[in-house]
Amino acid sequence: MRQLSLLVIILSCQLGFTQEKTPNIILMIGDGMGLTQISSGMYANNNSTALEGFEFIGLSKTYASNQLITDSAASGTAMATGVKTYNGAIGIDPQKRPQKSILQYCQEKGYSTALLATSSIVHATPASFYAHVKSRNQYEDIALQLSEDRVDLFIGGGRKHFNKRKDKRDLIQEMTSYEFVNSLKQLKSSDAQKIGYLTYSDEPPKKLEGRKPALEDMAVASIEKMESLGKPFFMMIEGSQIDWGGHANEMQYVLTEFKEFNTTIARVLEYAKADGNTLVIVTADHETGGLALTGGNLKKSLARGSFNTEGHTATMVPVFSYGPTAKAFSGIYENTAIFNKMLETLTK
Ligand code: MG
Ligand code: ZN
Repeated sequence: MRQLSLLVIILSCQLGFTQEKTPNIILMIGDGMGLTQISSGMYANNNSTALEGFEFIGLSKTYASNQLITDSAASGTAMATGVKTYNGAIGIDPQKRPQKSILQYCQEKGYSTALLATSSIVHATPASFYAHVKSRNQYEDIALQLSEDRVDLFIGGGRKHFNKRKDKRDLIQEMTSYEFVNSLKQLKSSDAQKIGYLTYSDEPPKKLEGRKPALEDMAVASIEKMESLGKPFFMMIEGSQIDWGGHANEMQYVLTEFKEFNTTIARVLEYAKADGNTLVIVTADHETGGLALTGGNLKKSLARGSFNTEGHTATMVPVFSYGPTAKAFSGIYENTAIFNKMLETLTK
């Protein structure tokens, strides 16, 4: 009897030891989301942000291999592949050699993969995780690479780069291993292993102009889909247009895009807390606009900003982390270290 109960204890210990399974990784990138964008969004949201629920905070140095001020391609590539490269480069090093991305490493480990963006899916940030091209502007080449079965689930705009191409090919027809859906409802009811959802023909509009579906709904539906596949998953979720608000020097644009991203962070964190084996990292590729928070009113949830540039700036950006190995993301480091820390999570 005693031996039997000992066996039960040993078995239940092994079964209950969930940390043995490699964790899900959800990397959330607020494009152009510097500390001032976060602060402004927080004060404009009743002095609250989902980022307050994270365990560890770090700072990332964003510069490119050839310039102090990075673009989203070089910084996306740094986080995705662990190499600093030149502005405009997607998934290649300064010598133009293709670099394996964290998404690819995850696939080799048996992970399911997903990419979600509020820009087109061929835009620099998501492209850095699956494509290898000399210039971020090669949208049709990037779409062609995505069509080669590189990601299990993707949601974003840019349909025209797949089906209204100079080479007359229709990649949506060619991608026979995928089911293409036109709504989150269809996505939820699909039992396909690979799903594409191209939300707009071109770049999706601003949230202020009614962009749909909401990023938080995309995230929740995608997490459910990933869970249903029964494997650990890697997911990159981009709040793409915080950056575009900065380029436009429009505070309302920045605040509304941040608000949606913040809501998405809250949903993802809820999931990670319930799941117990999901690493969540929230960061930015760079700051945009040189935004200063120069006025406002806490009681009225108002934040007033002033911009210094219509471009990006070189200030460090924060990194928030939660879950297994989250502690490794505290401190000050290069943006390339985000790749290395994720990779270490896979091998722990
Ligand atoms: Mg982007
Ligand atoms: Zn930008």
